[in-house]
Amino acid sequence: MKLFFPILAVSLFNCAQAFTILIDPGHGGDEDGASAKSVGKFPIEIIKEKDIALSISQKIYEKLLARNHTVFLTRSFDRTVTLPERAAIAEKTKADLFISVHINSSPENGAQGFETYYLDNHNDVAIKKVEKTENIPAKGDEVVVQQILVDLVIDQTVNTSRPLAQSIHSEIKSRVGRKYGIQSRGIKPGLFFVLALSKRPGVLLEVGFISTLKERIRMMNPKFQDDYATSVVSGIQKFINSIKQSNKKKH
Ligand SMILES: [Zn+2]
Repeated sequence: MKLFFPILAVSLFNCAQAFTILIDPGHGGDEDGASAKSVGKFPIEIIKEKDIALSISQKIYEKLLARNHTVFLTRSFDRTVTLPERAAIAEKTKADLFISVHINSSPENGAQGFETYYLDNHNDVAIKKVEKTENIPAKGDEVVVQQILVDLVIDQTVNTSRPLAQSIHSEIKSRVGRKYGIQSRGIKPGLFFVLALSKRPGVLLEVGFISTLKERIRMMNPKFQDDYATSVVSGIQKFINSIKQSNKKKH
């Protein structure tokens, strides 16, 4: 299916506004995302990105609800969600912020660490490799994403998405990074279709590397997932507080 951009309708924050946050667990259903074999278990299980992403997303969702935000998930169980469907959910829920959760994979031995992406142009070859795997659409889901329209979304969102990414990333770094001794791979610009199509200020989180044994064991641990979700929520909350603070000054 071809997807055309309607007129941009990015939410503008105002003083009294309660925030609506849409959490997007990567992949699902027919689309496993990255995967790797479990080790030391019989029968050998396949560990899938879609399952870890859902589990972490649900924890972020619960924690945001507990802080009285309006929160939605693009999927709450293992089902295929096409890119146009994710975009339609962003539109329907009128989300102010879009948080997409993914797990990295690399042929590089022992690749490790977490990274946070926001939608922007760049010329980084390593980032292009991550985009290539994350931009694979679900089965039968042909998406035409035109650069001119991506540029338009960048213009509308980057000044919000970048500080949001910084706020979330710095919380992950100071909480999860420190506690578990995990390296930060940085805050990066990326051209991810799901961010462009959602047309919202948002981030795409790469929690860690499923291809590295130590990282996939850690990412399957509910305690780690909980700590990671707590840091993401703390980053979102600090970002929202800073927006509210600057709006107060304006009025
Ligand atoms: Zn992914």
